[in-house]
Amino acid sequence: MKVLKVDHIGIAVKNLDESLKFYTEVLGLKCEGTEVVEEQKVRVAFLPCGDSELELLESTSPDGPIARFIEKNGEGIQHIALRVENIERALEYLKEQGVRLIDEKPRYGAGGAKIAFLHPKTTKGVLLELSER
Ligand code: ZN
Repeated sequence: MKVLKVDHIGIAVKNLDESLKFYTEVLGLKCEGTEVVEEQKVRVAFLPCGDSELELLESTSPDGPIARFIEKNGEGIQHIALRVENIERALEYLKEQGVRLIDEKPRYGAGGAKIAFLHPKTTKGVLLELSER
């Protein structure tokens, strides 16, 4: 498999609009719009940051994965996304290597990217997302 770069860093926030104020007004990043991803029960905002991006995630439901993450850990970094060349092949390879996959097959995430998550149990404690655009 080939990892091309850190695609984005996913940050769980309680309130997207309030968080955006900090990232745009204080840090001076630009928000490229927000999007609701129903399947994951999140509203997300992407902020380009050099060659990669920050992804702010707010839960749209109290039982969504982001709400549960915040309940357990508080706000903060929730996942790191690596951009790969061919996500299907990467998943096949990782499975062969004994990596536990959360998504056996890629699904569509924000911005129409193909994404799949790897279980933190086999990635040294980091929730890794693979992404192909
Ligand atoms: Zn992500």
